Amino acid sequence: MPKPASQTCSHAILQTTPSAFAHYAGFKPQTTLQLAAAATKSGRIPPSSKKIAEEEVKMLSATFPAPLVLPWDDLNLDPDCPGQSFRSWLHEKARNKLTQKRPVIYVASVPEIGDEVGFMRDWTRPNIASSSTDPEQLELPEAADVIEYLQAFYHGMRVKPFPGRLRFTSWTQSSSTSKSTRKSKSQTQAENEKYVGLALNSSVTRIRTRPTPSSSSSTPLFPSQLNLNDLLDVAISILPSDAHALLLLTSHDLYEDEADDFCCGRAYGGSRVAIVSSARYNPLLDSADKSLDPAHMWPASHCTAYIDSLLAAEDIHAEPASPSTSLSKHADPSKHADPLDGIQAAVSATSSLPPPTTLTSSSASSSLTNLWFSRLARTAAHELGHCFALAHCVYYACSMQGTASIAEDVRQPPYLCPVCLAKLAYAVSGELRGEEGDEEKTAYVKERYEALRRVCKKWSDVGMFAGFGAWLDVRMEKLE
Ligand SMILES: [Zn+2]
Ligand SMILES: [Zn+2]
Repeated sequence: MPKPASQTCSHAILQTTPSAFAHYAGFKPQTTLQLAAAATKSGRIPPSSKKIAEEEVKMLSATFPAPLVLPWDDLNLDPDCPGQSFRSWLHEKARNKLTQKRPVIYVASVPEIGDEVGFMRDWTRPNIASSSTDPEQLELPEAADVIEYLQAFYHGMRVKPFPGRLRFTSWTQSSSTSKSTRKSKSQTQAENEKYVGLALNSSVTRIRTRPTPSSSSSTPLFPSQLNLNDLLDVAISILPSDAHALLLLTSHDLYEDEADDFCCGRAYGGSRVAIVSSARYNPLLDSADKSLDPAHMWPASHCTAYIDSLLAAEDIHAEPASPSTSLSKHADPSKHADPLDGIQAAVSATSSLPPPTTLTSSSASSSLTNLWFSRLARTAAHELGHCFALAHCVYYACSMQGTASIAEDVRQPPYLCPVCLAKLAYAVSGELRGEEGDEEKTAYVKERYEALRRVCKKWSDVGMFAGFGAWLDVRMEKLE
């Protein structure tokens, strides 16, 4: 359950600059001129337009705030992560340009589980026995809804279900036809636990599995995990010829290598494949994660009181000189209620929604599934971004930021910042549609925002979508 204090937080003052912690983390925010230049094709702003360009970035700062850079965030762990400007993206050698021959993004829904590996069903059920909440499982978010969201996010592409159903099967059974030597019964059993097969039609690929490592003394949240590299290899082998990219959905917990605890998503951008696991995004797990505050997910993650509380917990106190805090503490909240302020509009829209945890059980469960879906949709869009050669973003709070934890994940926005959006607009409008002019790119951006607005309206009782919808309204108003 969220702490009572956070449930009553009014998010009166919002922060659009990096937290005071960023300085301790060694993170150097970009200057307004650098931000403006990063979104241009040449990577430069001619001296004569510097003033205007800087003004524009400043004017947009309440709609495109800076990354928060909180303790244990990705930019805390990797403060020197280089930015990928529009120009460096454009000249990135490994980038797969969009072509008319490959206009499709395929989404493969969660693989079926064959009865021969029935134990794998237990692997998808989170261990929440210790929690006081109803252990009844939530309905899994629908692949069709993910597809609909991606269709808007990657407006201009065709997003389709992958034709064919993947199925988990046993590996030993499928490999018995190959020239393997006979195994003793115990050997077979051990192998059964170590590997499973992922089948499409008659071809089966070996997938490594491992028991979920238990951090500290707590029981692991899932009994076992699947190796994501093996799953991505399957994706590469089944990539349809007209696919720009293929996204695999899975409900199993994933790991990348021995060193990591778990992984929610990953892309091999150059190979145009991505995978996203819904396992860790299950809202039933929220109460087990002390660092996750359900009252301060995006957009409320920009709440200054919340940010200060996280800093105080690390014994860091905001310095009065920092521009972010100078307008916080004692400022009049009404001064920040400018209707053209995107983050403020987003927070207002989400604050009016009842938190899912306060609803009665029947509506609570569907509302939690919707919350689950919002997290999955955001990460699906992020991972596919890597298939458009978008690197992790360090310029703004952005859907393409790297994440180091679930707590950070839910603090990040669903929108693309001006730098990342310039790349996508160039890829779709310029490369796929063959449009040359800036006017056409602006038209594309508006079309895309309209498409996203429609999806957000459909899910307007879900915090992230309500906030995104309100944010989009502000963006559209500014573009008119
Ligand atoms: Zn990423
Ligand atoms: Zn970005």
